Amino acid sequence: RQARKRFVKHLFYSPDIDRTDPAQLTIIGGLRDAINQGELVLHYQPKISLVTGAVTGLEALIRWQQPTGELIFPDQFLPSAEQTGLINPLTDWVLRKAVGRAMEWRRKGVDLELSINISVRNLLNPHLGEDIMRVVREARFPLHRLMLEVTESAVMTDPVNARRTLQKLSDAGIQISLDDFGVGHSSLAYLKDLPLQRLKIDKSFVFDILQDRNRAIVSGVIDIAHRLGLSVTAEGVEDREAFDILQSLGCDYAQGYFISRPLEESAFLDWLENYQPIQT
Ligand code: C2E
Ligand code: MG
Ligand code: MG
Ligand code: MG
Repeated sequence: RQARKRFVKHLFYSPDIDRTDPAQLTIIGGLRDAINQGELVLHYQPKISLVTGAVTGLEALIRWQQPTGELIFPDQFLPSAEQTGLINPLTDWVLRKAVGRAMEWRRKGVDLELSINISVRNLLNPHLGEDIMRVVREARFPLHRLMLEVTESAVMTDPVNARRTLQKLSDAGIQISLDDFGVGHSSLAYLKDLPLQRLKIDKSFVFDILQDRNRAIVSGVIDIAHRLGLSVTAEGVEDREAFDILQSLGCDYAQGYFISRPLEESAFLDWLENYQPIQT
């Protein structure tokens, strides 16, 4: 466990994978085993409407659960998964798992939008579109209730192919959201060119929204998004003040610790049952 921890740390500080480095090989091997041995888990973070206060969706967030119970967070192993290509089986696992769970919840009457995160490397996979559609159709999950959260950097790696893949998914009815908006590059160009339904404002703007400049940026982004026919989610809503400001700025959806932290799958339904719509 100590050893693995050290590898993870090592990896975290040197995202460029050296395939001759035994430490790197160990975490990569460890991650491959983790997929097969059921050490990966998904937590689910709710999303609410800033208009009605109701829960409208949930985002699946991956964690690597050590046999000791300790959780390793995605920022520490996703870069390695991306660089080795393990991200493809990993995304496939996430999609199957999340869609399966969401179907169980649907059968209990819970009809929410399910968000999945998609990585750089996923968009370079020419089969991504078909792979996703196959999983969703086989599970009989409604395509229009699935939302893919794509980061700007993911799109930037290969804009032409990324656009083509996203267009295919969008044509099939799957929703596309631009994640972490505002912290990448060329954001406005993507708004112009990509088939998007939603824009997710990066939490770094939301944390300090009491600050005039941040508020001005968030307000402007909401305005642009709405003019383009996109709805807007703010992530990282940690307190009442941020919630109120976002609402007054016309932001559509909110996600963050003020509403709920990401929940273990076994805790989600309980949380949902006990949720009192935040007075808006
Ligand atoms: P993201 O998609 O932008 O997700 C939001 C991150 O912010 C999550 O971190 C979430 O736990 C955290 N967060 C949510 N609300 C708050 C808040 O109010 N305050 C603060 N301080 N943090 C908040 P997490 O789970 O560690 O995920 C980090 C990133 O890893 C995600 O950022 C996403 O880009 C990536 N990721 C997570 N799961 C997956 C996955 O299954 N596949 C892929 N490809 N990427 C994933
Ligand atoms: Mg996300
Ligand atoms: Mg984000
Ligand atoms: Mg992020």
